[in-house]
Amino acid sequence: MDLNLSGQFFGQQADDDALQSEVQKVIILGGGPAGLSAALYAARASLEPLVFTGQELGGQAAATSVIENYPGFPEGVGGSEISELFHQQAERFGAKFQFDMVTEVDLSQRPFKVTTESGTYQAEALILATGASPNHLGVPGEDRLMNNGVSYCATCDGWFFKDKDVVVVGGGDSALEEGILLTHYADQVDIIHRRDELRAGAILQDRAMSNAKIDFVYSSVVEEIVGEEKVEAVRLRSKKTDEVTEHKTDGVFIFIGHTPNSQIYKGQLEMDDKGYVVVDQLMQTSVPGVFAAGEVADPHFRQVATSVGMGAAAAIQATRFLENQ
Ligand SMILES: Cc1cc2nc3c(=O)[nH]c(=O)nc-3n(C[C@H](O)[C@H](O)[C@H](O)COP(=O)(O)OP(=O)(O)OC[C@H]3O[C@@H](n4cnc5c(N)ncnc54)[C@H](O)[C@@H]3O)c2cc1C
Repeated sequence: MDLNLSGQFFGQQADDDALQSEVQKVIILGGGPAGLSAALYAARASLEPLVFTGQELGGQAAATSVIENYPGFPEGVGGSEISELFHQQAERFGAKFQFDMVTEVDLSQRPFKVTTESGTYQAEALILATGASPNHLGVPGEDRLMNNGVSYCATCDGWFFKDKDVVVVGGGDSALEEGILLTHYADQVDIIHRRDELRAGAILQDRAMSNAKIDFVYSSVVEEIVGEEKVEAVRLRSKKTDEVTEHKTDGVFIFIGHTPNSQIYKGQLEMDDKGYVVVDQLMQTSVPGVFAAGEVADPHFRQVATSVGMGAAAAIQATRFLENQ
């Protein structure tokens, strides 16, 4: 089945008035891999979770054409296809879905309050799984060629660039780490950085500089990503001379940071300096009864498999928390 990521073809909306009048056992914020996995585990523990998916059922995974590194799919699986499978599995065990955006939370007392575009809901426990968004360059060609040569994830997409030439945009740790990873596949990796020196740590810099497949283009910014059906080149502007040149390439990997979707929790629980929700090994946040999973709490791994694992763990721990109340 072809899927509509706005969620409107995914099952029935749960009965809204009834949901608002009763206190839910658990509300899950986010319908990406972490939220959908948490929904499955919470549903199988008979918690009848209410899931607010926001605008993208399946999250970032649904926006990915093929996922080749999620176990169980030797031929790979479509991002929207696996999202729908996650969704169906959770729904089968009683998870309730609302395709609604959470605009506010009140974590000051239990039951916690969750306000969405359609109303206010209450729950004894919350699982925050609102994910993160890779920062975009915001240049012409970027959105149009996403998944056709433009990528934000080397672990995910590096394989598609076997024996090809790619550029990496960025100069921090992730740009260099992912650039080095890309040399396992690509013939040539050019790292384009807007400054004249890198921000990444010294060891990573040494490693990248001694890698024969990596070259650096300093003091340059990408002005445009060029290509009809797929990426063919990037247009670079030198910050020193203002000269614009075209640099042929098969792929553009952009690593200029991620922004966790955590603005609505700000000031109510512990976050790190980049806005990632801080969790312990049991996925507990600094507020008892509030758990977090997936990329909103994970600046390190950012994969479907790891997000799904965190979602499962958060739901298991939320179940234990509710049992002990
Ligand atoms: C282009 C691209 C390709 C990728 N390819 C792969 C790959 O091949 N393999 C792999 O393992 N990983 C891949 N990833 C990474 C993977 O998609 C993510 O690690 C994973 O989706 C994170 O899951 P998550 O549930 O934590 O967050 P997300 O997927 O970001 O989902 C967040 C969810 O929260 C919802 N949400 C956000 N704000 C609100 C709100 N206020 N109220 C309600 N809901 C809200 C969103 O609608 C969404 O449903 C890729 C990522 C990108 C961007």
